[in-house]
Amino acid sequence: MAKTPNPGKCVHCLKFHKELTWDHVFPKAWYPYTTRQNLYKWQVPSCKRCNKMYGELEEDLMIRLAMCLDPLDPSCAGIVEKGLRAVNPSYAKNEKDGRARLAKRNEILKGAFEGNAIPLQAVYPNFGVHQQLPLQAQTAISIPAKAVQRLAEKIVRGIFLIEDGKLIEPPYEISYYVLHDAGTAEIVQMLAQYGSIHAREPGIVVQRAVAHEDAISSFFLIEIWNRFKIYAAVQEDM
Ligand SMILES: [Zn+2]
Repeated sequence: MAKTPNPGKCVHCLKFHKELTWDHVFPKAWYPYTTRQNLYKWQVPSCKRCNKMYGELEEDLMIRLAMCLDPLDPSCAGIVEKGLRAVNPSYAKNEKDGRARLAKRNEILKGAFEGNAIPLQAVYPNFGVHQQLPLQAQTAISIPAKAVQRLAEKIVRGIFLIEDGKLIEPPYEISYYVLHDAGTAEIVQMLAQYGSIHAREPGIVVQRAVAHEDAISSFFLIEIWNRFKIYAAVQEDM
């Protein structure tokens, strides 16, 4: 793979740029330690601005999710430790870095919910509430909806470019859905029957079913660390 992509369109903002960078479709830091050593990590051309925006968003989201994962689960090996280190000033490289880690920790804790204040109807599917602990002893970390949306868009755009060499351009747009397993039997069956699987295991498994009519309209199930699921659709804007 060339050091930098040829001039062209950024996969995210779709604008033409002379200078492009490689952006990891599944964030580089999100690959668990259990990933096969020489596995090719999906990369797509991105402008510097989008790459930077995604870098910050993914770091923040990784820390929040890491606080909710099981440190013993091999599907996310190392992610919990990485997330906790990122908000621990004793790992700081210098004073400024230490302040940034502390500020991030305070920001996340400020937005957290404790015990009875946890909005149970808003708990992300597959992430608690833990039955073996009293609710009073539990803490819920907030996950920005915008970040989940952006991540879904990135993965959908990345898979389309890598697999089909296509950008998702207007009038097509990407929507995302947070669904509980109980309500997804039909979608899961449809994906199993008509879909293809694109995986970088154990970190990420993506299932995609594309409509024959236009080869763009599609449905996705994105599964990260065998735990964090996002459903997404590409459809023509009505
Ligand atoms: Zn861009």
